Amino acid sequence: MYESRAYSAAGAAAPLALATIPRRDPTDRDVRIEILFCGICHSDLHTARNEWSSIMPTVYPVVPGHEIVGKVVATGSAVTKFAAGDLVGVGCLVDSDHTCPNCRADREQSCPGAVFTYNSPDRHLGGVTYGGYSESIVVDERFVLRVPKNLDPAGVAPLLCAGITTYSPLRHWGVTAGKKVGVVGLGGLGHMGVKLARAFGAHVVVFTTSPGKQADALRLGAHEVVVSSDAGEMAKHAGSFDFILDTVSADHDINAYINLLGLDGNLTMVGAPEKPLPVSVFGLLFGRRSLSGSLIGGIAETQEMLDFCGEHGITADVEVIPIQKINEAYERLLRSDVKYRFAIDMASLRNA
Ligand code: NAP
Ligand code: ZN
Repeated sequence: MYESRAYSAAGAAAPLALATIPRRDPTDRDVRIEILFCGICHSDLHTARNEWSSIMPTVYPVVPGHEIVGKVVATGSAVTKFAAGDLVGVGCLVDSDHTCPNCRADREQSCPGAVFTYNSPDRHLGGVTYGGYSESIVVDERFVLRVPKNLDPAGVAPLLCAGITTYSPLRHWGVTAGKKVGVVGLGGLGHMGVKLARAFGAHVVVFTTSPGKQADALRLGAHEVVVSSDAGEMAKHAGSFDFILDTVSADHDINAYINLLGLDGNLTMVGAPEKPLPVSVFGLLFGRRSLSGSLIGGIAETQEMLDFCGEHGITADVEVIPIQKINEAYERLLRSDVKYRFAIDMASLRNA
């Protein structure tokens, strides 16, 4: 075991602050990674503040962070995929039971024994897992991803969660050329959804509550932008979408978007608001529409997404910050004031 510096929260109302956490020495299949960048996902904030207490209560202290890019510095004796010096990524998953039907079908995110990167039981050290707001992490090589060499590492970090969380449902629901796709919320997930849906050839419409994001939405790849408070503009799209991806982190009216779906259209929730959202069933009955959810993606699909982004030169638009600015970044995230993902430069922790 060794110690690593990290930023942790001691309670739901506590700011994140410098702390020291234990990390295991690499076992045979483990890779030790020096973290270069870690994205800030809204799930980090939900967890740090215990907003999902009824589903996944937070165990304190918590070290969030599941959009990790770093360099391999040591490998266990049985590691075959990686060597010291490799640029690698770690997302939301660090282990699973490897035997259940979901694991056998490359859907580790739905394994009953899935171990998440933070706030999950730690099978090695006891307690809970600690995430990427830290200097280094030790992960089973089966949950470590290859990072395309042509991409900027800071912009790659958010692909490990925001990228795969939008890639997976877009693929699952058959988003290709000729499909009309809506993306609700232009934040970290939303801006990746726009870039990916555009790269898949779809006609992309962004729905935003922020009039100031309209020009960016077009620059990021949207064909059209609708400010969702404009009832007239919303009505023009009624009954017309094949697929809508809802990335909103807070309470909002999903019925307004269900009504924009065409026959057999699907709305997938990836946003995870704290409280339940009311659904008007009639919006689903007429038009045989469906409402579903999606959780990140499996490891093989995450690698597929990274390779796709490498081939197409896709990364997140990041604002790189030192870790000392983390609490300010959380407040700005709540105000939808980030273009479009914060990435922590971990040199700021290493040199602190
Ligand atoms: P984010 O960067 O904060 O983006 C959320 C966006 O939602 C905001 O930029 C804003 O976009 C819109 N929004 C915020 N509050 C709103 C409100 N009250 N009404 C309507 N729109 C609102 O967050 P993120 O990191 O993309 O994460 C989004 C959600 O997905 C979070 O709940 C997160 O926990 C969840 N998530 C789920 C998964 C999964 O596997 N399913 C994975 C990662 C994250 P506009 O300014 O454009 O309106
Ligand atoms: Zn995330």
